[in-house]
Amino acid sequence: MHRNLSRKSSSLVIAVDGPAGSGKSTVSKRIAKALGLLYIDTGAMYRALTLKAIRQNLDLEDERALVSLAGSTKIDLEEANGVLKVHLDGEDVAGFIRTPELTKKVKYIARVPGVRQEMVKLQRAIGERTGAVLEGRDIGTVVFPDASFKFYLDADVEERARRRYKELTELGQKVSREDIKKDVVLRDESDMKRSVGALKKADGAIIIDTTNLSVDEAVKKILRFIKCGTL
Ligand code: C5P
Repeated sequence: MHRNLSRKSSSLVIAVDGPAGSGKSTVSKRIAKALGLLYIDTGAMYRALTLKAIRQNLDLEDERALVSLAGSTKIDLEEANGVLKVHLDGEDVAGFIRTPELTKKVKYIARVPGVRQEMVKLQRAIGERTGAVLEGRDIGTVVFPDASFKFYLDADVEERARRRYKELTELGQKVSREDIKKDVVLRDESDMKRSVGALKKADGAIIIDTTNLSVDEAVKKILRFIKCGTL
């Protein structure tokens, strides 16, 4: 785990995986900022591609069509002043990719091996170029198995559902708490059981249970580990 500590910070690759609502995005953004690294939200890439498939009325069961779509789509992430822009073929779609309806459909895209290959290629290219904090489900297992540091964030399902509910209501979406919890449980299942890029703790990943941690506490723990090798 420490073999890459002497790398320049510009080539540091930090992998953060975990289920929905574990705090990955908030924590990863803060770590990236503290270390001067790029932040890559890989979920946003799967979400953007799902949006394009829906807009084109593609059959989400048609794997060949989805792979061809992935190969002909340009997705770029850009962070400016703490706000993440997700460019789908040049259009910023960040405002369209977090609805519960779309979230339920990402699994069709995420389970297709050819689609994941395209996404992984893109993620590696961005990460290798400048170093980055990448967050997702398969970063430490598939995208960067040799990452300088790997973390697996987790939290109790009730707490994860509570966070998702808060996040969505703050975005102005009308959702019920019960539905959100059901979605979180279903998503855990499809993320953990798919045959490619399944969510699991990577070899050598440090597990951080964020159930009772504030964002500040989780960030502090991770930064301490990166700098001193202890949690
Ligand atoms: O992280 P986020 O909740 O935005 O991810 C949305 C969905 O995208 C996940 O439920 C998962 O199915 C998929 N995803 C994935 N691999 C990643 C990141 C996200 O399959 N590396």
